[in-house]
Amino acid sequence: MKELKRRILEDGRVIGTDILKVDHFLNHQIDPVLMQTIGNKFADIFKKDQVSKVITIESSGIAPALMTGLALKVPVIFARKKKPVTLNEGSLATEIVSFTKHVRNTVYIEKDMLQTGDRVLIIDDFLANGEASLGLARLIEMAGAEVAGVGIVIEKSFQEGRRRLDHAGYRVCSLARIASLGNGKVEFVDK
Ligand code: 5GP
Repeated sequence: MKELKRRILEDGRVIGTDILKVDHFLNHQIDPVLMQTIGNKFADIFKKDQVSKVITIESSGIAPALMTGLALKVPVIFARKKKPVTLNEGSLATEIVSFTKHVRNTVYIEKDMLQTGDRVLIIDDFLANGEASLGLARLIEMAGAEVAGVGIVIEKSFQEGRRRLDHAGYRVCSLARIASLGNGKVEFVDK
């Protein structure tokens, strides 16, 4: 997606060799117009996949997921990183390793958010080692629902996530694919 790549080059900042900071349009300040374009793009890519729900993890996935749900006219669920007292006993839970925070998190969804027969589209802001997307896929499958696909805003193709998701048999579509972040410079897979 041309517009997204331009924005990454203009506003993104590389931290070390493997982290891209995009706090000015995605992870802290959010550009709603860009998010709407992203949502429409995902909706177009997955329009034939009978998506009945969209799922993400709080908090950075919520903006693109919400816009995708709006375009597809389906509900959006976000997995929670802390178990609130309002969450019923018998909620579904799985452990993931946070790429940016280097900690293990248990993420939760209420059991009755997903049913057998649901086809669920996973949306996330970044794909690094695939922990978040694979964790969401586990929650979907625990509920007896099906993964309809995985939509990623920014894929870091030099990390393990893409290979792991392909290997698990999920259809992955990423709007920007980064080949490397060496020397503080963003190199895309396709120019
Ligand atoms: P994964 O679970 O695929 O290892 O990592 C994806 C998650 O980690 C995303 O939900 C995202 O929040 C965070 N993440 C991974 N890499 C980056 C990065 O380069 N920049 C930012 N801002 N977040 C990242």
